[in-house]
Amino acid sequence: MTTAIKATREQAQAHKGMKMCAICGSMFSGYGNNPSPVITEPGARCCDNCNWDAVIPARMYISGLVKTIRAGKVATAAGIGGNDGTENG
Ligand SMILES: [Zn+2]
Repeated sequence: MTTAIKATREQAQAHKGMKMCAICGSMFSGYGNNPSPVITEPGARCCDNCNWDAVIPARMYISGLVKTIRAGKVATAAGIGGNDGTENG
C-alpha cells in the first residue's frame, strides 16, 4: 500500500506539473485519467489507482446495465443490490 499525499487543490496547482486526484485527493504527475462517471466535474482528473479501483469498475458496471437494458431486461433495484428473493420473471 502506497502512502497517498493529501493536498488541497491550491497546493496541487502550486506544484507545477502536479495534479490533484478528484477522487482520493492524492497528488500525481502526468496527464492523469478521466474520472467520469465517478466524478463528472469538467476538467477533473484522477490518479491511476482510482482509475483502476473506481472508474473502470464503474464503467464496466454501467456497460453491463446498458447491455441489460438493450437486451430488454430492465434492471431493477433488487437486481442491482443483490437478490432479495423477488423475481420479475
Ligand atoms: Zn486517486
